[in-house]
Formats: sequence, C-alpha cells, structure tokens
Amino acid sequence: MYITMIASECAPVAKVGGLADVVFGLSREMEIRGNDVEIILPKYDCMRYDHIYGLEQVYDNLWVPYYNRRVHCSVFFGFVHGRKCFFIDAQFEKNFFNRGTYYGCDDDAERFAFFSRAALEFLYQSGKNPDVIHCHDWQTGLVPVMLYEIYQQAGLTHPRVCYTLHNLKHQGVAGEFILRETELYRADHFIHPERLQDNFNPFAINMMKGGIVYSNFVTTVSPRYADEIKHSSHNAGLGHTLYVHGNKIGGILNGVDYEIWNPETDIHIPYNYGVNNIDLKFGNKEVMRHRFLLKNDYKPIVAYIGRLDSQKGVELIRHALFYSLEHGCQFVLLGSSPDREISNHFIHLKGFLNNNPDCHLEMGFSEELAHLIYAGSDMIVMPSLFEPCGLTQLIAMKYGTVPIVRETGGLADTVFDADHAYKPFSERNGYVFQTYNYEGLESALSRAIGKWYSYPQYFRELMINGMKADYSWNHPGEHYLNVYNYIREK
Ligand code: ADP
Repeated sequence: MYITMIASECAPVAKVGGLADVVFGLSREMEIRGNDVEIILPKYDCMRYDHIYGLEQVYDNLWVPYYNRRVHCSVFFGFVHGRKCFFIDAQFEKNFFNRGTYYGCDDDAERFAFFSRAALEFLYQSGKNPDVIHCHDWQTGLVPVMLYEIYQQAGLTHPRVCYTLHNLKHQGVAGEFILRETELYRADHFIHPERLQDNFNPFAINMMKGGIVYSNFVTTVSPRYADEIKHSSHNAGLGHTLYVHGNKIGGILNGVDYEIWNPETDIHIPYNYGVNNIDLKFGNKEVMRHRFLLKNDYKPIVAYIGRLDSQKGVELIRHALFYSLEHGCQFVLLGSSPDREISNHFIHLKGFLNNNPDCHLEMGFSEELAHLIYAGSDMIVMPSLFEPCGLTQLIAMKYGTVPIVRETGGLADTVFDADHAYKPFSERNGYVFQTYNYEGLESALSRAIGKWYSYPQYFRELMINGMKADYSWNHPGEHYLNVYNYIREK
C-alpha cells in the first residue's frame, strides 16, 4: 500500500510532543510491514537539520493557490533516520515556516491551512496518487476537506483519508478568511453546522471538525480517550460532531518506537541495560546526579518530562516536586512551555530551588537529556488533567522507571496500580490515582515512595513488569493497517 502522512511534526526533526513520535514510529512500522510510506512536512527553519540525510531540492515549481493568487513553493526531500520525507518551503513574504518556532504565532491557522493546501497541491502536481493519506490533528484537518471538495474534481479520486485526533484541546478555530485563503470559498456551504462551522462560534470555521466530518475514518490515540470524548462531557465542544460520526471513530493506542527508546541499545545513555542486568540502570542514575549536581544519597529520584501545559496538571507537578523533596526523594524536571505565565512560574521555581542538592529543573527541550532522565530516574509523575494517550509513561516503563499517574485517557489504558488493579501481579506496573487534587496525587506518590524504601524487591518487580510489557508499534500497526484496508475497500 502507498501511504502518505501529512503532518506538522515528525520525530526527531520537528518535535514538540507525542505527535512527532507517532508520525515517525507509525511510518516506520508501516514500512516494516511492506508498505511504501512518504511523509510531508513544512520546511521549518528551526528543524533539527542534523537528523536529515541527503536533503536536496526535488521540486522547484510548486505554485500554491492563496487568496486568488499563486505562491511559489519548492519541495525538498531527505531521509529522516530512513523515513522518506518531503519538506515544503513556502517562499513568500509571510515566511510561514521561518519563524524560529513550530507553533505559537498569531497566524498559526493561516500557516497550517496553507501547508495543507500546499501538500495536496504537491501530490496533485507531482502525479503522486497514494492509496491512503493519513493526516493528524487540527493543523491538517483541512486536507480531507480540500481533497474531497477541490482535488477529487481535478482527478485526485483515488486516495482515502484516515485522520488521527491526538488532542482535542487545539482545534484550529479561525475566521472565514481561511476559506478565501485556501480558495475553498463558498462560505454558505462550509460554515454550516454539519460541515466546518465551529460548534460555539457560528461565524468561525473549525479545522478539526472539518477533518472529522470529511475523512473516511477517524482514530484517536487510545481506546479510553475515544470513549471519554464520545461518551462524556470531555469532548471540547465537539460532542455533537463526534456523535454524528461515531460509527467511523475508533481508539488505537499509540506505540513506542523501541528502535529509539530501548535501554539495551540507547546511544544517549552511558550504561545500557535490560531486565537481566537491571542494576546497570543505577550507573545512569549516578551520571545524571553528577550532571545535575545532585547529592549522592540513598534516595529515589522522581522525574517529570513533558510539556508544561495546564493539560499536564502543572499545579500537581509542582506539588509532586515539593512532596517528593519533603519525603526523602530527589526531583528532576525537564519541561518547556509556550505559555509565558507557566514558563515564568517554573523559571522562578528553578531560581528558588537553585541551591537545593536534591532538585534540578531543566527548562527547555532536549531529546538527548530526556533519554538520560528516563534511564536515571526511579519514578516518573504524570498527574494529567486529561491525557489522550501519553507516551512518557510508556517510555518510562521500558526504562524501568515506575509511572505514577492519574487515571485518565491513555494513562488509564496502560498503567495498572501495584496495589489495586484488577490484574495479575505480573501486569501491574505503576501507581494510579483518580481525583485531581493534592490528596489524590499524594495517595499514589506516598505508596510508591514507601515501597521503594520498605520493599525494594517488590519495587524492582514492578520495574521489571513495566520493562517486559509490549507497547511497541506491532499491535497498533496491525490496527492501523486494518483501518487503511477498511477505508480502501469502502
Ligand atoms: P504530548 O504529546 O501531550 O506532549 P506525550 O506523553 O504523548 O505528550 O509525548 C511527549 C513526548 O515528548 C515524549 O517523547 C517526551 O519524551 C517528549 N518531550 C516532552 N517534553 C520534552 C522536553 N522538554 N524535552 C525532551 N523531550 C520532551
């Protein structure tokens, strides 16, 4: 099968969060299964160009419709750790992808609507005819809309579209101008409750809603999140749309790329280890302490790795930090936030804790450091308010780092409480709490710390259970292939 991924992120070249890992990992899995996969991305100035091999311009004559004129783009090709990637370079005064950042510009909606149009225009003009187009999140929600409303008439009748919702929090809500920008026009047709009209603002269009309405199948990144958004009020205003299209929506748990995230072979950690020589993990703990100037002491290290976003439970992350320090632990945080207030808060906290020998806060994004922290920590906290899937807990488990999580979305599907889960002990792998408050978090964190100190052998078994669990792309790969085949045959 010939599959084209259209996305705003792909690890490790353009990564903000889990979306990037999924685009890379799923593409690789599909290739392993004998499919031909190409990925189309914007050519950002801030990408990790050191991860692209053989980058060259392959197409210089891409003229993309934009407000009734044609904008010149060129397309580059390169391999990202073996994956075939095309990068669209928009060469005009708006410099859409030369902003030194992936997201967070006032015109994000316009930037990614343009990218979606450019990606389809590239497929069309270059004569590419994939069996399946797989697009992701609001940034590429207009792809199926434009495919069926513009490009089918032009002859691009073959591709079917699978659309994955990674997070309903951001939906790409923008003004009618997007219809003029992309030359979809026909506001009466599109700004309609059953098409692109935002469910709250009758004058706005909602790109994610467009993606749901127009694609052939919609997936979200865990069965629990699919259930939550379809059957509870946690649907970010898309409840009606998800209800109407419910029979083409399913949850497929994300996988982890064990080629990259594997403590036995990881090139970023000083001591490789696995279930049979787990003690070597503690060499990484020592190196991490040295690197972060933490005291060498008989204490567990609790970590947080991730975006610092209200979704991730920032006040509970902060509480976990102080609770850990007060209860005989060390704490390491690696995080970044586009939200100035949250970012300033943690920068202030970093200054306040600067001389504390049991604590290190690293503000920023570092793939390399993330590997060391997964390997060097004993526990990881994820007290999320909601969590579509969560890769952090899955990666942590592979590294024998015990997750402490709130029972929501993908966290509920993957972390099973050491004391309370309805599972045999061999499948219990962490600590879980339900209520989003300090007491809830403490109820899980205190049990984890208690076990680490009082029953180290038991704690070790939990680590091993997590390391042995299979959260590779193998099973999700099979499910996605079934979806692709299903929409091809429809
Ligand atoms: P989300 O997609 O909501 O950000 P996930 O848990 O699904 O959360 O995926 C997060 C991914 O991003 C993981 O691979 C994690 O290691 C990585 N990550 C998040 N923040 C950072 C950071 N500051 N530095 C390095 N890696 C990070």
